[in-house]
Amino acid sequence: MADTAAAAEQPKGPRPIIPFLVLDDPPYLAGIRCTHCGATYLRSGRVACAKCGEAGPFDDIRLSDHGTLYVYSIVHQSAPGIPVPYVAAIVDLPEQVAVRCTIVDVRPDPAALPYGMPVKMITRTVRTDKEGRDVVAFFFTPAS
Ligand SMILES: [Zn+2]
Repeated sequence: MADTAAAAEQPKGPRPIIPFLVLDDPPYLAGIRCTHCGATYLRSGRVACAKCGEAGPFDDIRLSDHGTLYVYSIVHQSAPGIPVPYVAAIVDLPEQVAVRCTIVDVRPDPAALPYGMPVKMITRTVRTDKEGRDVVAFFFTPAS
């Protein structure tokens, strides 16, 4: 009975594929900032600051949706059902946070992927879950 009631109260809208993606308008990546030293991280279950060692508290912050391409790899072989090639990358955000992501809407060619290239975050529905909700993921795409 309680399970049924809880299930009925579940939101029916889209859901993020990872917890630090917030599907606000516009969507954003959620971060946390150490109140002792200012070190910033993606929001997670972090219990202590890797820079100063303090156990918080951490302030919740909204990370920038623009960054720069730090490094990438063009992936030619992946799990079954995952289209290749794709560009697996690490993007640096202005808040000193590095984000693992996929770069989309760009040729998977080093000539089209200069290090330091400005990129911006976008979201896309990548599948539908078993409750019929859209599952939304984030990607980065060239900003210019
Ligand atoms: Zn700290």
